[in-house]
Amino acid sequence: MAAALIDGKAFAEALRARIGRAAAAFEAAAGRKPGLAVVLVGEDPASEVYVRSKSKALADAGMASFEYRLPADTPEPDLLARIAQLNADPQVDGILVQLPLPEGLDEHRVISTIDPEKDVDGFHVVNAGRLAVGERGIVPCTPLGCLMLLRDRLGDLSGREALVIGRSNIVGRPMAQLLVNADATVTVAHSRTRNLAEVVGRAEIVVAAVGRPEIVKGAWIRPGATVIDVGINRIVDGEGKGRLVGDVEFAKAREVAGAITPVPGGVGPMTIAVLLRNTLVAAYRHAGIALDEDTL
Ligand code: NAD
Repeated sequence: MAAALIDGKAFAEALRARIGRAAAAFEAAAGRKPGLAVVLVGEDPASEVYVRSKSKALADAGMASFEYRLPADTPEPDLLARIAQLNADPQVDGILVQLPLPEGLDEHRVISTIDPEKDVDGFHVVNAGRLAVGERGIVPCTPLGCLMLLRDRLGDLSGREALVIGRSNIVGRPMAQLLVNADATVTVAHSRTRNLAEVVGRAEIVVAAVGRPEIVKGAWIRPGATVIDVGINRIVDGEGKGRLVGDVEFAKAREVAGAITPVPGGVGPMTIAVLLRNTLVAAYRHAGIALDEDTL
């Protein structure tokens, strides 16, 4: 029997509706909308698209977005001064610096300047540290979205054999931490892993975040496993048409897995929805208003 499809698009829409209601409640209580400042340095076309869709999603959810567009040759001290100003701004609950930054700007220094309480991407070392020790912080959007899909599908993850493929600071590492914190038994595979097929074959949960088209073969998947495919790879097929594929050989994996996310329409839509969630949560914390974060 073919695996169930995990519909990230539908899940993200429902999450956005809950966030919209909680944003309205915030505005009623605080007298202002939750606000996210988005800083875009330079004119990278992909980044422009992301920033536009983030601003639209914020507006749709009843939140304020403040966009700052700076030229690619902005000196680093000017960028850091802008971030310091946003740190101090009472209307701003979250700050997002769109990556990648133009050459000459030190990503680590820039992210480190953001107030960790406003770091809605969850990339600041303080938030990475909080996640590592199991303290409340802000968790990167994509892995938190994956965890939500897994919990929705499987409920309790305690004791499950989970495999994360990839160890980036944005996806793989925080994903592994989240699964450990959820009491799963976690393996992390990466570019130096020796026998990926064998490691995949043991896993009840596979989260693939590599960035290589269909690197995970369908035949490797353990029957009944839940597969979350984070990869977004643009390939050109035999007829010269471009299309998106994930890191998992979807059609073959679907024959053996219990459930699987499609690409597109799986993890992708979750990322922006969780960014909205993180902004909302940061706003409630910032304003000192109680929120049951687990109900979001
Ligand atoms: P990255 O390049 O930073 O990390 C890739 C990881 O894959 C590395 O840790 C590396 O060790 C591992 N890897 C490389 N070759 C491997 C191999 N042969 N076997 C096992 N592991 C190997 O990438 P990233 O930022 O973590 O993103 C990964 C993928 O997820 C990309 O396709 C990216 O586009 C996608 N992504 C999607 C979303 C989303 O919203 N859906 C968000 C972020 C990233």
